Amino acid sequence: YDYRLEEVDVTDTTCGYCAVGCRFDLYTKNGEVLASRPTDPENAPINGISTCVKGKFSYGFQNSDDRLTQPLIRKDGEFHETSWAEALDFVANRLGGIKEQHGANALGFVSSSRATNEANYVMQKFVRQSIGTNNVDNCNRLCHSPTVEALSQTLGYGASSVSRDDLKNTDCFLITGSNTTEQHPVLATLIKQNVIRGADIYVFDPRVVKIAEFTRSQYTRVRPGYDAVWINGMIRHILENDLHETEFIDERTVGFEELADSVQKFTPEYVEEKAGVPPDELKQAAEGIATADSCVFCWALGLTEQVNGTKNVISMANLALVTGHVGTPNSGVSPFRGQNNVQGGGGDMGPVPGNFPGYQKVTDDDIRQKFADAYDVELTDEDGLTITEQFLAADDGDIKGMFIMGENPAVSEPNVAHAREILEDLDFLCVQDIFLTDTAQYADVVLPATSFVESNGTFTSSTRRVQLVKQAIEPKGNAKQDWKIVQALSERFGHEWGYESSAEIMDEIASLTPIYGGISHQRLENEGGICWPCWDEDHPGTETVYLEEFNQPDGRAFLIPTDTEGPAEKPSDQYPLTLTTGRVLYQYHTGTMTHREEGLMSIAGEAFAEIHPETAADHGIQDSEYVRVTSPNGSARVLAQVTKRVNPESIFVPMHYLEDAQVNLLTNEEALDPSAHCPEYKATPVRIESETDG
Ligand code: SF4
Repeated sequence: YDYRLEEVDVTDTTCGYCAVGCRFDLYTKNGEVLASRPTDPENAPINGISTCVKGKFSYGFQNSDDRLTQPLIRKDGEFHETSWAEALDFVANRLGGIKEQHGANALGFVSSSRATNEANYVMQKFVRQSIGTNNVDNCNRLCHSPTVEALSQTLGYGASSVSRDDLKNTDCFLITGSNTTEQHPVLATLIKQNVIRGADIYVFDPRVVKIAEFTRSQYTRVRPGYDAVWINGMIRHILENDLHETEFIDERTVGFEELADSVQKFTPEYVEEKAGVPPDELKQAAEGIATADSCVFCWALGLTEQVNGTKNVISMANLALVTGHVGTPNSGVSPFRGQNNVQGGGGDMGPVPGNFPGYQKVTDDDIRQKFADAYDVELTDEDGLTITEQFLAADDGDIKGMFIMGENPAVSEPNVAHAREILEDLDFLCVQDIFLTDTAQYADVVLPATSFVESNGTFTSSTRRVQLVKQAIEPKGNAKQDWKIVQALSERFGHEWGYESSAEIMDEIASLTPIYGGISHQRLENEGGICWPCWDEDHPGTETVYLEEFNQPDGRAFLIPTDTEGPAEKPSDQYPLTLTTGRVLYQYHTGTMTHREEGLMSIAGEAFAEIHPETAADHGIQDSEYVRVTSPNGSARVLAQVTKRVNPESIFVPMHYLEDAQVNLLTNEEALDPSAHCPEYKATPVRIESETDG
């Protein structure tokens, strides 16, 4: 670029690509992002000077020719540009009309884990105040909802208990169901630096993910869908050898006797038969974890996107508790969250059926009255529908209209061909996004929003750190920030909020949400980020939670027995292999942003199936040829990548790709975790065939 440094604008902000929460300076000029550079490390406590390829280079999407710049309305089957006034009047009319005719519960709302906390807060407020339903959910349902459910039941907060410093200083890691190097690159670097200094690292995963290849990692391959089995097997071995922390268990937990009884069946032989874990490896890891001075238990969607997701995470919390490695220094549970703001926008802010902001229950009379007083309306105590339930209800004709902000369920829902039919059949669909996504193609109205580079507000990282997001460039055309759009819609329902800035919204969040009680934009500006819980303006925030007590009624955590029968659908003669899904470093979710990045697409532009050499040979499949993968739900065409990364019984296909390479053409919409309603993306029975002659 032919600019002098003093001619460009520099804005310190937070990355919008994943939930690590990296901060950096964006250098901009004339509406274009020129570069991302390290900011003052004081201002970037999680990443310091590190960023990954997406945070560093991936801003070309901002100025794509196909950015939405004007509201669109469908007339005679075609989209036409329209004014904001006409678009919002139309949306308000249609939502209001469906509510009047069929009731508020005939509408479903999907909020966005990419958008700011402030945008998500006002979305749930709009749905509850103006529409009068709790049918609001977000993509957290499709990823870490079992984590939130399980950690709420056991430890108290549906979130990580550790800070960056715990990851830096712990003596041991257990990592499972997480391709950390590709999904959370900067955290992987932090972990590897600690391991080089001497920490132990145990990786349990169906695939040889990159962190498993790290020279100091001890890797154990597990069979997809049986995680609660091997975790219970570890607990059994620890108890049998008196390696558990008796004093900690007595003082800080409830339910030990029941847990000890329940794990008896998980003998090494049983664990090997069900989960495929060799007894020696199970014992070695169990002993290493139990005898370490401290340990952090890390997981991602490999553990949660199963019908047993909640049980898996409860098992992990049990393991952390019996070893005394949670609520103690440099130890704890660390679910690695996916989307940039899924912790804050997807959970803390309450765009979920059962919770107001701050995990305050809609069924609690006092809490509901507090929000009813603040919103000046009666609020319903009826639990709403999750996103997966909203789609099933729409299929049954019970949901007539949907409003989807910044999500792309036409690609991300399980059994996506059916999800698209459902979107097509809705009486009314409004989509708010930055591009005409696959989902927006089905909309009646499309509202142009801003990206994270054009927005003001906050994101909350995987480690509960609330950090400022600052507008670095002007919105494209007539696009508007999410919170402004929702505010304008609310006015059409007679609720004039009058927010002048996202900072004012955060002030309201703080006034109603105890765990955010002391957070304001001014403090974040001064202090460079605060970890919740932060109870009031004098409270410093909490880097590591539970050091004194767990967030349960008498301060003691609950040990809860678990068991599992494995995946909902088992391999069969017709579908003999198990498909697992996941991500690659160079893509982000459904590709809305990264598919528009030439550099990323040149490296990772096409879907593939990892197939073990033995399986490939059995099927006459060569490396780099096209294969057809077929499940009971559909089929996809992808490139074969012959590799020992997977075992002979499994294949892996990434989730980012579109058209006939979409992995969610294969997954099952009805196999849901019974508590959290998260779909089983990680274990679908499939068969494969060469496409060479096809
Ligand atoms: Fe952004 Fe995540 Fe990469 Fe950090 S690790 S730069 S937050 S995508």
